[in-house]
Amino acid sequence: MVKVRFAPSPTGYLHVGNMRTALVNYLFARKEKGAFVLRVEDTDIERSDPAFERALLDDLAWLGLTWDEGPYTQSERTEIYRAHAAVLLKMGLAYKCFCSKERLDRMREEALHRGSPPKYDGTCRDLPAEDAARREREGMPYVVRFRAPARAIRVKDLIHGEIFFPADHVDDFILLKQGLTPAYNFAVTVDDMLMGITHVMRGADHVSNTPKQIMLFQAFGQEPPLYGHHSLLTGADQKPLSKRHGATHIREFREMGILPEALVNYVAVIGRSVKKEIMDEKELIETFSPRSLSPSDSLFDMEKLRWFNREHIRRSSTEKLLEKMGLPDSCREKVALVQENAGTLAEIRDYLDIFEGSTITDESMAYLGGVPSSGMIIASLEEAMKNGVPSFDDALKMVESGTGLKKRDLFMCLRISLTGRKHGPPLTDIFSHISREAVTERISRIKERLALS
Ligand code: GLU
Repeated sequence: MVKVRFAPSPTGYLHVGNMRTALVNYLFARKEKGAFVLRVEDTDIERSDPAFERALLDDLAWLGLTWDEGPYTQSERTEIYRAHAAVLLKMGLAYKCFCSKERLDRMREEALHRGSPPKYDGTCRDLPAEDAARREREGMPYVVRFRAPARAIRVKDLIHGEIFFPADHVDDFILLKQGLTPAYNFAVTVDDMLMGITHVMRGADHVSNTPKQIMLFQAFGQEPPLYGHHSLLTGADQKPLSKRHGATHIREFREMGILPEALVNYVAVIGRSVKKEIMDEKELIETFSPRSLSPSDSLFDMEKLRWFNREHIRRSSTEKLLEKMGLPDSCREKVALVQENAGTLAEIRDYLDIFEGSTITDESMAYLGGVPSSGMIIASLEEAMKNGVPSFDDALKMVESGTGLKKRDLFMCLRISLTGRKHGPPLTDIFSHISREAVTERISRIKERLALS
């Protein structure tokens, strides 16, 4: 049975790049009728925060990415990692290293200075057993290192195809840090092994960890899982997606009024060529395969996400939108009128102001200020409203004949006077739903502001 996992570190809010990892694993598990495990990797004690862990579970629940096993928490499994390190020590496949931090830091800096990757020089690799025992008795701090075999590794990556790592790629990396807490690669491998993970799918930033993890599996005499590294998301400048590019955290999209199904849909099709773009969860599962993911970096495009969101809002039932937005049933008709035109839930909320509110955007005021005859149009509209004009078309006709102006300017001035905005749903649809008080209020505010400027 296929068993996959999502293994986030609770060191920040869930980022859309990590969400992509979660989604890839979730879709694969559902497609293969396998299991999806959630594992919280909080071995970095300083950077991990339980508040981020709670936020993470909350974001996953909002996205609808349900897991079948877990959440396991690595900080609760320290004894398991220690026991596994003890097994490797006993087999001579790991050793205790007493090198001082100062010396290691110096070595690291020198290597970086030379432009070569920092590597442990093996000082403690063949320390006689009595020496090591004596140092330990004397209370010298130590770490446990893996005795890495000098062996080249070939991996058949599920997304990238074959990746080759030369024999000198892996040094004697740390399994247990000082204080005998697990290092990242060790905790991941022990867990993947014990949890029976069959496929490890994660971001391309983890490619260089893969040979280490494979070597550890082999040291325990176990068959490693299959690995697949999906590409990373970039902004339009092809740099890794970050805050500089705008919203990147799931909660930011949520606050913006992006629907979870739209975000899931968009992120699921990024970097894939799909026959149709708008899909529900069932279709996303049916069409998913790791091989369909492009190995090259993929653009995360906020405008595209808004387009997906717009499409999902259009397709959504009005009841569902009311529920998501916490609006009463009395808003049903109005939400139904604006949902065709809204890109986000926030826009729906904003459009609802058209009917009862008195907002006038600055952009609209600037437009009115630039149309010499706007005062005339507004006066004429006011007159038409007083006479109880029944539809927008009638209002348009009346104002048109009263002012003799071009349709385009006229139309925009009327839109602004009636709704306070330059954009929105078709006026013919919404006209009769806008309260007369709202229009009167808007017109008097516009007149005031025009007179001031
Ligand atoms: N905890 C790692 C991270 O958040 C993921 C480890 C893995 O998937 O192997 O980047």
